Amino acid sequence: MTFNIITIFPFMFDGIFDFGVVAKGVKSDLLKINIHNLRDFTHDKHKIVDDRPFGGGAGMVLKPEPLFEAVEFIKSKSENENPHVIYLTPQGKKLTQEKCEQLSKMENLIIICGRYEGIDQRIRDNIVDEEISVGDYVLSGGEIPAMTLIDAISRLVPGVIKNEEFNDSESFSNKNDRTKLDYKVYTRPEEFRGHKVPEVLLSGNHAEIKKAREEK
Ligand code: SAM
Repeated sequence: MTFNIITIFPFMFDGIFDFGVVAKGVKSDLLKINIHNLRDFTHDKHKIVDDRPFGGGAGMVLKPEPLFEAVEFIKSKSENENPHVIYLTPQGKKLTQEKCEQLSKMENLIIICGRYEGIDQRIRDNIVDEEISVGDYVLSGGEIPAMTLIDAISRLVPGVIKNEEFNDSESFSNKNDRTKLDYKVYTRPEEFRGHKVPEVLLSGNHAEIKKAREEK
């Protein structure tokens, strides 16, 4: 699966995907992450990507031309795949585990990171397929939401997490009940500062352990 990120701050992604599950996915060629600098799609000396909003108001708006060109460029390089274009915005639909599962089945995602007041509406109307929010709060840019989205999707791409490690008891992953959360976990020592691990987990009785975890 390929992730294409469009951002004005490409260096924010330095090192972020070099650890853990995502890094493993990249190393085994199951994931590819391309970072595109929006300024590379400008044609003026100062590489300007933003301008003042028509009608007045606070802040700057990301201009349509570089974003259109960036998306067109990525699409032209993605021969047989039809990239799905996501704009990260607090106005989008809230991200869920179910949405991550759907997106993990796609071959190629283009993720637009907004900045300032956001992006020109014509980009949203004409090239964005889907708008996603990571929660009901406002961040300064789409880069941290993009990291969140990529991490959550990567775990679900077949092969990235080995079958035996995959845990369908994980929070929000039960398809019959999305509200179900993971069970409580403990490790050694059995007693720490007077706090004991529940007896049942030490019993070796797998049926009882399963039952106790489900009850929790
Ligand atoms: N004026 C916008 C509004 O009130 O809806 C907020 C703009 S925000 C300061 C700049 C950029 O950060 C947005 O274009 C978006 O890409 C990103 N962003 C901020 N909060 C976000 C969230 N909760 N989910 C996804 N992206 C977010």
